[in-house]
Amino acid sequence: MRYISTRGGINPIPFKDAVMMGLASDGGLLLPQSYPAVTREQLESWRGLSYQELAFEVISRYADDIPGGDLKSLINRSYATFAHPEITPLVRKNGVYILELFHGVTLAFKDVALQFLGNLFEYILAERNQTLNIIGATSGDTGSAAIHGVRGKKGISIFILHPLGKTSAVQALQMTSVTDTNVHNIAVRGTFDDCQKMVKELFGDLEFKEKYSLGAVNSINWARVLAQVVYYFYAWLRVTDETDAPVNFSVPTGNFGDIFAGYVAKRMGLPVDKLLLATNENNILTRFINKSDYSLGEVVPTVSPSMDIQIASNFERYLFHLFAENPVRVKEAFAELEEHGRISCSSDEMTLVRNDFCSISVNQGATLQTIREFYADTGYLLDPHTAVGVIAALDLLPSDSARICLATAHPAKFSETVEQSLGFQVPAPESVKELYGKPTRCEIMDADLGTVRKFLIEHIG
Ligand SMILES: *Cc1c(COP(=O)(O)O)cnc(C)c1O
Repeated sequence: MRYISTRGGINPIPFKDAVMMGLASDGGLLLPQSYPAVTREQLESWRGLSYQELAFEVISRYADDIPGGDLKSLINRSYATFAHPEITPLVRKNGVYILELFHGVTLAFKDVALQFLGNLFEYILAERNQTLNIIGATSGDTGSAAIHGVRGKKGISIFILHPLGKTSAVQALQMTSVTDTNVHNIAVRGTFDDCQKMVKELFGDLEFKEKYSLGAVNSINWARVLAQVVYYFYAWLRVTDETDAPVNFSVPTGNFGDIFAGYVAKRMGLPVDKLLLATNENNILTRFINKSDYSLGEVVPTVSPSMDIQIASNFERYLFHLFAENPVRVKEAFAELEEHGRISCSSDEMTLVRNDFCSISVNQGATLQTIREFYADTGYLLDPHTAVGVIAALDLLPSDSARICLATAHPAKFSETVEQSLGFQVPAPESVKELYGKPTRCEIMDADLGTVRKFLIEHIG
């Protein structure tokens, strides 16, 4: 399998090179040249597989430059850190299925991909005798999952900038309580945007980037999408163990990474009827699907902060397919976005979009109300992101279909909001309670590029 860029500017490269490249060197995103087809027969033969065995079947079709035994060991080590034997169990509540993706170390679905990516980086770096210094900005979830993905790994250091006092308490502790020598937390006196801007400037200095082997872990890495494709297969197999109803997925969406993984599964032949894209007030993708209106707005802060995004970085991957794999059309679309703040599509293109996707935007009032009502009906706690997807599924998907809602975070990770909705304290899992007693390490700095740069130079091995 070889990988190409959505902007058409690179020669096809193998999987391991695609992992190390991250963002394509022509500014586009990397995609496989084709999607391996999975027949219905093959799918049925996977019914008895464990999560890890299924992950091997899916991932090995894309990572064919890694020997089978090595890949199996990477997968097994990645999911050994999960607290549930099924890794991503499916539970049925109130006529919907909840796909629990939060049993990893930081209690959000990003662990599914970042545990695997951390092991993958270590494996490829050792083979190539290289080192990597990961730099990233986070508003909470990605940073903690990335830190736990690479802590203690050989050949890798990680520097994560977060806005001081602006993440949830649990998110901050999940980062600063990791005191491994290769992990560096930087709390910036400023906003997430200040952090993001400094990281962009560091990457923009190509000489600095080259000299210090800087790399990123944001959701543009193909390996992250790939690891997430697995749980669509897993959930489909579990739900069809008990019903013949058509299967739909509801996905609370920010960067379009998680839902793009569902699209990939569908392209491979997984019989999925619709992918429901659920947004909060930051609803550019909903406006696009429902009204063909992809125009940028301001980011509004909400109770589901991991979805407070206007520019969904993975959306370019989908546009490449929508535009019949024509990189010229992709470049035109992004030029239009740059110049006029929007992307326009033809009515034929919009028909294609609506064959695969439907969408709804859910406001904060409805989110809080659903957390409360769902708990009253079932005794089950939804985190605010998951709640957005559940409302969307109940509103938009036929009740005689199998409605699978992706649960992207554990309610204890956003306990402030869940408690605001319910009026009582959310019981914390052991892993959260333990956080409060642990030693922490974190550098506090002003939002000043010179200071951050100096710190990096001093601490890069
Ligand atoms: C990152 C995140 C999302 C959004 O996922 P995307 O892949 O960016 O669409 C939703 N919920 C939670 C809890 C997250 O951490």
